[in-house]
Amino acid sequence: MPEFRLDSPVQFLKGVGEHRAELLARLGIKTARDLLYHIPFRYLDATQITPIARARSARVGSDVTVVGRVISTGVLPTRRGLRVFQTVLQDASGLIECGWPGRPFLERSILKGQLLLVTGPVRHFHGKQLQPREWVVLADEDEEPRGHVIPVYRVTEGLTVRQLRSLVERHLDGLLANVAEELPAAWRTAAGVVPLPDALRQVHRPENVAAAEAGRRRLAFEELILFQLVLARARWLAKQSRAGIRFEVRREFTTQLRKNLPFELTAAQKRCIKEIVADQTAPVRMNRLLQGDVGSGKTVVALFAMLVAAENGFQAALMAPTELLAEQHAATLTRLLAPLGMMPELLVGRMSPAEKAVVRERLEQGGARLVVGTHALIQGEVAFHRLGLAVIDEQHRFGVAQRALLAEKNAAQGPDVLLLSATPIPRTLALALYGDLDVSRLDEMPPGRKAIRTAIRDDGARAKVYDFVRKEVQAGHQAYIIYPVIDETEKLDVKAAAKMAEYLAKEIFPDLAVGLVHGRVPPDDRDRVMRRFRAGEVQVLVATTVIEVGIDVPNATVMLIEHPDRFGLAQLHQLRGRIGRGAAASHCILMIQDGSRDRGSPARERLERFAVTQDGFAIAELDLAERGHGELVGARQAGPVEFRFADWSKDSDLLTLAHRLARDVIAADPTLSARGLRPVVAQIGRRFERGLELFRAISG
Ligand code: ADP
Ligand code: MG
Repeated sequence: MPEFRLDSPVQFLKGVGEHRAELLARLGIKTARDLLYHIPFRYLDATQITPIARARSARVGSDVTVVGRVISTGVLPTRRGLRVFQTVLQDASGLIECGWPGRPFLERSILKGQLLLVTGPVRHFHGKQLQPREWVVLADEDEEPRGHVIPVYRVTEGLTVRQLRSLVERHLDGLLANVAEELPAAWRTAAGVVPLPDALRQVHRPENVAAAEAGRRRLAFEELILFQLVLARARWLAKQSRAGIRFEVRREFTTQLRKNLPFELTAAQKRCIKEIVADQTAPVRMNRLLQGDVGSGKTVVALFAMLVAAENGFQAALMAPTELLAEQHAATLTRLLAPLGMMPELLVGRMSPAEKAVVRERLEQGGARLVVGTHALIQGEVAFHRLGLAVIDEQHRFGVAQRALLAEKNAAQGPDVLLLSATPIPRTLALALYGDLDVSRLDEMPPGRKAIRTAIRDDGARAKVYDFVRKEVQAGHQAYIIYPVIDETEKLDVKAAAKMAEYLAKEIFPDLAVGLVHGRVPPDDRDRVMRRFRAGEVQVLVATTVIEVGIDVPNATVMLIEHPDRFGLAQLHQLRGRIGRGAAASHCILMIQDGSRDRGSPARERLERFAVTQDGFAIAELDLAERGHGELVGARQAGPVEFRFADWSKDSDLLTLAHRLARDVIAADPTLSARGLRPVVAQIGRRFERGLELFRAISG
């Protein structure tokens, strides 16, 4: 007899009061179901515990797990003002010091007398020290936790792993009694995964690490198959509404553009243009993704496609995620089109109502052939005379369902759709995220670009690095200084961007114009600072990753990144892509804390690999191998889709299987109308914005 529904607020569970419910909400846990699906991100396998004496003789840089009693704690300042929380742990074999740089607040969580399990690399720091990546306070009865596999959950300040673990443990059986299998048995058999209740039990209370992994795979399969069903349905709809426009290559505008380009197209650009034009001239509607690193020259490729539409008497629209980017695109197109005597229209929110009315009128009458704007262009208010091509930049902000429904809306004679993405994505992941699209890859950079030099420097060289920044600025260039996002849940003691901007402006660069943007700066102010930076009025821009997307300031030649270890490789690559866009040599500087301590460590090696690699696709593969769980830039940016359980480094077989299975299922039952699939459809509705609509959509 279930005492509650899985949809009930988590607060109804015993042991969860108002305060704790708030903490859980910060982790995204709002209902009882959320708690059940908040699975451990890692397990501590007690069979792998190293006696402390052995840990002390381990090689510097190697990972160890030890269990010991906390015999002392304290916070030490270091030379550079970074505060380090330190403890000494003891077991029967000896003592070892543990240090958590930058996390003095742990003083409140780790107390003398507690039994602690820690995992992390051995460092050399006044003798051997362990720098825990993870730690768990154990209950005393776990003193000899052999045979146990201890789940480690993501938590937030005010809620310990231990508290969360005991909360889950307390309610697990009750919650599981409410869980029913929802996937058809045939699907599960095909994938070779365990039933849902078993899977959930195994992830929270595993007998061994393999059982936990089997449980995770079941959950991963579920999210993959649901998403692949959505993609397969989108693809099916796209094929149904085949009323694509059949363009002809008239060689008017396109030939003129080719003749007047200030550069030679790269082989990759030529290949991509060919692929796109083949779609445009076919009677089926184009639904293609053009993927290419920042600076690979996507805009001119898109322009060719736009001109094909224009020379056939159709209109083409280029849409960007922000007004600033739209303006940037408009400027680029204006430059490239000048020799043809053509000019694109610009339509953005900050224009006056009168100006906007003029452009709208011209679009409706057909006088305007090329228009650049934000996504608002195709999301309603604008009527086109004859839209033949929609180019959508940075498409990852668009969910797959929205994409499919956009085409569906104009089923009669829908425009071709070309999506541009500057996030290189490995092939396996491209299938997962964009399985409904054809993909063109721009995997070659235009020649003659000055290479970006990437250097790793440490705090010892800080003064020199600042001097270098000043020299570049005095030579007329501009610089970015990037800090990791201010982490609200963990209150990491990293130098927050806001504090640093003030410090840099006052103490280091009092003679320069320093600007600041981060996530908590209101959008209007942020926009203003960005514009001033682009105009050269701000010389040093201190920022968090909010500048990642799209900003193009060719005059910026320095990208200084603080705490690069806190960024994913793909993210670092995106940041580095902000420089090297002009004629001058550019420099990316990764500021680590202490170079001598880091040498040879995996953390250092990854930065070194990054420093010598410029190829975005190669970095995307590295990032994939390194990360796994849905933290990938690509996955995170895939709009409403988030993969929580799928691990890209392990699940490519499951992904391929889900892809094929979904295709077959949709081919046989395009609206998933079979009675047995009702729970599956309901899940799609829960997980995907407009997901249900997608399955109800009836195509002409
Ligand atoms: P992306 O949008 O892919 O980041 P852009 O389209 O903005 O890149 O192009 C980056 C810069 O490279 C632009 O200034 C563009 O004019 C230039 N460019 C594009 N293709 C070539 C080429 N084949 N040779 C030289 N420069 C090019
Ligand atoms: Mg671009």
